[in-house]
Amino acid sequence: MTDCLFCKIIKGEIPARKVYEDAHTFAFEDIDPQAPTHVLIIPKKHVRGLKEAQVEDAELIGRLHLVAAELGRRRGIEDGYRTVLNVGPKSGQSVFHLHLHLIGGREMKWPPG
Ligand code: 5GP
Ligand code: ZN
Repeated sequence: MTDCLFCKIIKGEIPARKVYEDAHTFAFEDIDPQAPTHVLIIPKKHVRGLKEAQVEDAELIGRLHLVAAELGRRRGIEDGYRTVLNVGPKSGQSVFHLHLHLIGGREMKWPPG
């Protein structure tokens, strides 16, 4: 999608600190990290968000989580990290290209705010 921030990051039109890429997914450091590890994992395919995802996106959504698990291993934060998928404006979703937050490297509180 031409007018999408994260599509532009995938294409390299907007700089980002890439931490992972494969045929289907792309991951980069969040510009405003909320923890020592705060990575955004996104599909290369433009999907607006979870509520817009279709059955054919099921594998892609699974892949985002498997990338999170791999990055959790690589970063040595397997004693506790969180994956977060904000859905809709009340949740705080501000970018409308599906993205999974990987947050870790510190103590987490429950419930989240
Ligand atoms: P949301 O609030 O939609 O779940 O998450 C969007 C995330 O994107 C936020 O954590 C925000 O800090 C991050 N973000 C917004 N613009 C940029 C950007 O230009 N570059 C990077 N690396 N992260 C961004
Ligand atoms: Zn996009």
